Amino acid sequence: MTNLSREKIENLKSKVKGQIVLPSDSSYNEVRQIWNAMIERRPALIVRCAEADDVPPAIAFARENGLEISIRGAGHNIAGNAVCDNGVMIDFSTMRLVRVDAEKKRAYVEPGATLADFDEAAQSHGLATPVGINSTTGIAGLTLGGGFGWLTRKYGMTIDNLLSVDAVTADGERIRASENENADLFWAIRGGGGNFAVVTRFEFKLHEVGPEILAGLIVFPIRPGKTGTDPVSRICKIRTRGAQRVGYHAQGSPFTISSRRCAWQGGSCACDLLHWGCCAGQKTD
Ligand SMILES: Cc1cc2nc3c(=O)[nH]c(=O)nc-3n(C[C@H](O)[C@H](O)[C@H](O)COP(=O)(O)OP(=O)(O)OC[C@H]3O[C@@H](n4cnc5c(N)ncnc54)[C@H](O)[C@@H]3O)c2cc1C
Repeated sequence: MTNLSREKIENLKSKVKGQIVLPSDSSYNEVRQIWNAMIERRPALIVRCAEADDVPPAIAFARENGLEISIRGAGHNIAGNAVCDNGVMIDFSTMRLVRVDAEKKRAYVEPGATLADFDEAAQSHGLATPVGINSTTGIAGLTLGGGFGWLTRKYGMTIDNLLSVDAVTADGERIRASENENADLFWAIRGGGGNFAVVTRFEFKLHEVGPEILAGLIVFPIRPGKTGTDPVSRICKIRTRGAQRVGYHAQGSPFTISSRRCAWQGGSCACDLLHWGCCAGQKTD
């Protein structure tokens, strides 16, 4: 474990408004926890940001001490990239504010917001933009990876609706990126998967959707054709190793239903229904 002097830590504390969490703190295990409970990593220090101004000192601290940085939005990424071993975790889980300008049809979103935070704020004005399917997912990681969801077929991917970001670069500079400002960085941010600077605010375009909508799921039964099994079923069986039945979302993306428990997360996840983008292709037992 990295040894950080008390003096260095006190110095960092004096520069940030948020909380510094250390392995010796009682809240440490709870704060480093992410959605995928199989991830077991121990950062040397966690900066729980209270505002964007907390990010430059956190980056400077990591650089001065030669520490790796990980960034946590809502902590939903399966690979657990939000948490690092022996490094500095920049944690946005307490920065979840979503401000909506209904007249301009714009949303300004802090990087710890979940899809639920976003949808709730936007839907109170009958507005929405394409984000993901699962409400506990983070806006930050989802957007930085491209983002697709229920509204994608009508309004494009999440990044098609991203207008600008406020961000902090690796040398601690606070910048804005959009089509017109730092356009090269804006290109990388839209789908690069994260860590092209630390994003501290997202600006989205909104569309008139709802608040009342008609939605539903269409599931077709699998009927064996002349060959005994139908082609869709055969393809999906190969791709998902062990799927028993196959269905389609109303909008066309395939999902599979396994009659066996999924080994992922100790068999505790909701993988009776295996999802594309979630755990399709994971081994079932
Ligand atoms: C059950 C489930 C359902 C999903 N459904 C969908 C879906 O419908 N559509 C879809 O598009 N995706 C979906 N995903 C994928 C999801 O979008 C990604 O896992 C995404 O990374 C989660 O975002 P997060 O902020 O919660 O992640 P985190 O784990 O917090 O962050 C993931 C990574 O993003 C980067 N990052 C996060 N915040 C920042 C920041 N502020 N600045 C710079 N980099 C940052 C970091 O590299 C970080 O390690 C789903 C995932 C799961 C597990």
